[in-house]
Amino acid sequence: MKNYQMYINGTWKNASDNATRTLTDPANGEPLATVPEATPADVDEAVAAARNAFDTTAWGSSDNALNRASLMKALATRLRENAARFAELDTRNCGKPLAESEADVADAANCLDYFAGLATKVTGETVPVPMNMQSMVVREPIGVAAQIVPWNYPLLMATWKLAPALAAGCTVVLKPSELTPLSMLELCRLMDEVGIPAGVVNVVTGVGEVAGVALSNHPDIDKIAFTGGTDTGMKIMAAAAKGIKNVTLELGGKNPVVVFADADLDKSAEWIAFAAFANQGEVCSAGSRALVQRSIYDQVIERVAAIAQTIKLGHGLDEGVRMGPVVSQEHYAKVTGYIEKAKAEGCRLVCGGKHPAGEAFANGNFIEPTIFADVSPAHTLFREEVFGPVLSVTPFDTEEEAIQLANDTEYGLAAGVFTENLTRANRVVKCIRAGIVWVNNYHPTFNELPWGGYKKSGIGRELGTYGIEAYLETKQININLDEGQLGWY
Ligand code: NDP
Repeated sequence: MKNYQMYINGTWKNASDNATRTLTDPANGEPLATVPEATPADVDEAVAAARNAFDTTAWGSSDNALNRASLMKALATRLRENAARFAELDTRNCGKPLAESEADVADAANCLDYFAGLATKVTGETVPVPMNMQSMVVREPIGVAAQIVPWNYPLLMATWKLAPALAAGCTVVLKPSELTPLSMLELCRLMDEVGIPAGVVNVVTGVGEVAGVALSNHPDIDKIAFTGGTDTGMKIMAAAAKGIKNVTLELGGKNPVVVFADADLDKSAEWIAFAAFANQGEVCSAGSRALVQRSIYDQVIERVAAIAQTIKLGHGLDEGVRMGPVVSQEHYAKVTGYIEKAKAEGCRLVCGGKHPAGEAFANGNFIEPTIFADVSPAHTLFREEVFGPVLSVTPFDTEEEAIQLANDTEYGLAAGVFTENLTRANRVVKCIRAGIVWVNNYHPTFNELPWGGYKKSGIGRELGTYGIEAYLETKQININLDEGQLGWY
């Protein structure tokens, strides 16, 4: 078992009180590693390092952009060279199947490359004004960014925040989830190797209620970027409000997947299963709420259930596994609690709904892919984010009803629409209040496109050119070209 330390100001540190937490493999409960539990004093030290690197070094200056880009590209290269090791680590730490961790690592490297490309393309503008002035708008890094990330995509969610911040010229204090900090700490080793200067990126490991609270309330940060649950997002926003800090929130979703009678049923069924069950359903954008036109309702349920029952569960490192355990015992209790509630409220259990039988699953947080049919807006399952492998299915009759049901949620992150009629697809897409809509597919995510939600799914966008905006300030500069006197007095 490896004992990790935190990365603060380019050095490896224990917590100031030497407290540690032992992480376990969610597939079998075996001890995996120990990590420090950061104290508020550790957070202070990390913020001071980031502040110092931002205020007193050339890291964030515009003439350092090419250097920042080179360092980020070097980091992407080193990450690719170590891809197998990182993928294995994320699978052991959070449970996801290896193929998914491999895709995450590849995406993380591509994200670093994408934003490295943008580092040298932060430009301003010259604007004509009604005086003899040269008036310009320039963009500058926002400063010290506090970044708080969740456990479902440990490396990738961290990279989505880190890459635009570094490209913009910010310095960073990042807090991974207490459950899944390992790949981020390993990334710090690579940052050290490629020469990212001390203090530019600092990682504090620890619990949200201590390290997260200390970080988000810290007076010396300039921005908070958060991905996680909506309730925590509200606390982050309140902390940001106290200091008038810029904030970006990527929160939950109860994402509708609308299936019209004219959809290609075989293709749609596989995408619907993928929407609901990829990454154990522990995805903010999971398509967890299928809305199916009544004439094909039974057929769709039958086909998706048939696929769900073929999904191989097991340790994420085992060959052919397509679903691992959920991340923790606490989260297992939350997800199975939702399953019991759905049963008690009268939703019809189609498949799954229990811990898989067998010795191999005995000590892991496994839950079978689960489908409930006949779920109505009155049911808890229709409204609340389960964040596990649980799909609800609801019938509808008309396009208007489908749109009304799709939007009948306080969230607005993602949605899917399945139809062979592209005129209909275009019409429905425009009526759905969500930041991401997939038509005849679900989940593909691109570094080039903005990611984020409407309504309670968040504020701001990550990725794409929108992603770097979140780390830039805007300054107007007016240079007087008039040689005369002001003449006011
Ligand atoms: P949280 O929102 O609690 O955790 C996300 C991050 O915030 C973690 O790093 C966490 O630290 C930190 N954090 C927790 N409390 C605070 C706080 N008061 N101030 C600052 N930071 C804090 O998610 P959970 O892991 O508890 O999961 C709860 C639910 O949130 C899930 O069941 C799911 O519904 C949703 N969720 C959504 C995600 C998404 O991608 N939108 C991702 C993860 C969860 P720590 O881990 O130490 O608690």
